This record gives sequence, structure tokens and C-alpha cells, in this order.
Amino acid sequence: MSTATLTIDLSAIEANWRKLNALTDGETAAVAKADAYGLGVDRVAPALAHTGARQFFVAVAEEGAALREILGPEVQISVFSGHMEGDTALLRDARLIPMINSVDQMVRHVETLPGHAFGLQLDTGMNRLGMEDAEWQALREIALAQSPTLIMSHLACADEPRHPMNAQQLACFVQMTQDVTAPRSLAATGGVLLGPDFHFDLTRPGIGLYGGLPHVDALPVVTLDIPVIQTRDVAAGETVGYANTWTAATPSVIATLSAGYADGLIRAMGPNATLHAGEVAVPVVGRVSMDLIGVDITALDQLPETLQLIGDHQSVDTVAGFAGTIGYEVLTSLGARYNRVYRT
Ligand SMILES: *Cc1c(COP(=O)(O)O)cnc(C)c1O
Repeated sequence: MSTATLTIDLSAIEANWRKLNALTDGETAAVAKADAYGLGVDRVAPALAHTGARQFFVAVAEEGAALREILGPEVQISVFSGHMEGDTALLRDARLIPMINSVDQMVRHVETLPGHAFGLQLDTGMNRLGMEDAEWQALREIALAQSPTLIMSHLACADEPRHPMNAQQLACFVQMTQDVTAPRSLAATGGVLLGPDFHFDLTRPGIGLYGGLPHVDALPVVTLDIPVIQTRDVAAGETVGYANTWTAATPSVIATLSAGYADGLIRAMGPNATLHAGEVAVPVVGRVSMDLIGVDITALDQLPETLQLIGDHQSVDTVAGFAGTIGYEVLTSLGARYNRVYRT
């Protein structure tokens, strides 16, 4: 088989949820947007529910409806994008809780789904989603009278603990939610690690469940082993791959592996990336193709059957670094072609 194997450790995801849950006194939700960060929400969400998560967050209503099918009626599922036109039937039928982001959304919600649960999202400086202070002041009394399930905001710089934006957004959130009795939530993974001032009633980790930074104590979740399809000897002066970007300086052994940018091996990582054969790191050579990459395995004593891109020797964040990106993008780029194996 030339299909690469992506192994996803569900017990590690569960352990990571419990680790983050142990850091706070409040409730810990689980963020499962984008197919649980690319890892397969149909397998990941039941594992999280099994270990104790009772609240889930997704980005859009369609993801919420799919998650409701997977998890059944017991859990609470909230939607960050709120109540958009066209969402009404999904929100109603799947009993999803929209996080209302604007007066327009609030009007739509009370007109189309009177009495249906909702939360409120406030903007405390990120300028992405949520109501700013003036809009919030106009809506505050009416919205609070209808018992929102949650009042939330999101931190822009939580992965940098010393960034002044964190304290600024915290102060803004405290000020905007003074005298509010509804449960409050400010922290994603980074915010959990900033300490108790940021925890409020509910935390919303995503990446920290899936083994990515800034959750430094996370157990690794993903292993990616890629089969070698062919090996060849190249002489000094020969080139490898599209556009001849790599030239052998000495006689070399090149392995051609069965994964490429269509599988989430971000093309920009090419010249910086390594894979592992056991303890030995071997470099990618030449351009990443759609379905293939070349690796210089001259240093190995034996021809390998597979090489490992993500695993014990290289975390998702290490691999992200090869491409100048973040672990979140590596995970959510993982392709549909892999043979996915779930460990429980
Ligand atoms: C994605 C997201 C989260 C989870 O963030 P992580 O950094 O992955 O923990 C929490 N809240 C909101 C609003 C988000 O968009």
C-alpha cells in the first residue's frame, strides 16, 4: 500500500482534556470546529464526551448539526459564528446555541426562534467577532433579560503570556460584564495557561486537546508515517524534482515518498523539512509535489519502508516551523487520502 498512515491517539486527546480541565476550577468545554482540527470529529468528539466534556463549540451551524448527529441529545453545542441568515432551521432542529455577535443577529434570533437558547460574544479588542461596547450597551438590558447561556470573548495574544494585550482584554471583558450573572468565558488553550484570572466559568480549549502549542505539557496525538515508493542512486551533479531546485553535491540515495501538498505537506516546507527513520533525521530534497516528496536517505544503513514526518521525534509544531506556520494549520491541512488509524 502506498497510502500514508495517520495515527490519531484518542486516549492522548482525552488525557489532554483532563490536563487542561485540572488547571481550572470551572467547566472545560471542547472546541471541535474544522473536523476537530482535521483529526476526524466523528471519532474525536465521542472520545471527548466519554472523558467528561459536556459542552462543545464549532465554527458554523452545519458543523454543529453534524456534531449533534454524532453525540446525540445530551451535550450542549454552541456556534461561534452566531445566527446567520439560513441557519435558523439548523439551529432549531439540532438544538444548537448561537453565540450572537451583533444586534442584527439578535433581532434575527428573537424574531425567528423566540425562546431558543443563545449566548453572546463580545469584542474586547481582537476586532474579529462579537459586539463592541457601544453595540453591547444598546442591547445589554434586553439580551440579559432573556438569560443567555454564556457571555464570551476571545483573546488575540494568549499564546504570548507577557503580551500587554492579555491584561487589556481581561480588563475590558471584566468591565463589559460587570454585574452579569450569566456564565462567562474568555479563555481558549492559551488563556487557560495564563492563569485563574482568565478562567471565569468556562474555558474553551481546542489546539491544546490535539497536542499543539501553547499546551507544552500536551501528550502528542498525531503520528504520520509515509511509505517509500522507490529509491534510486543519483550521481553528483544530478537534480531531483520539479524545477531542478536541488542538485546532489556527492553521490546520494534518494527515496520518493507517497505524500505531497495535496495531503497537507505544505509546499513551503520543502527545503527546511526533515523526516525520521528511527532516530535519524533525513532531509527533504527538491520541491514538494502534489502526491510525492523526495528525501535524501544517504545517511541510512538500510532502505526504509516508511519515514515518519510527525511523531515522537517531530511534533506538529516542529513540522509547522519547517513551513513558517503554526501547528493549527498543519493539523487542519492533513489530507483526506491518509489511512487513518485511531488508537484508543
Ligand atoms: C478556535 C477557537 C477556540 C479554541 O482555540 P485554541 O487556541 O485552539 O484553544 C476558542 N474560542 C474561539 C472563539 C475560537 O475561535
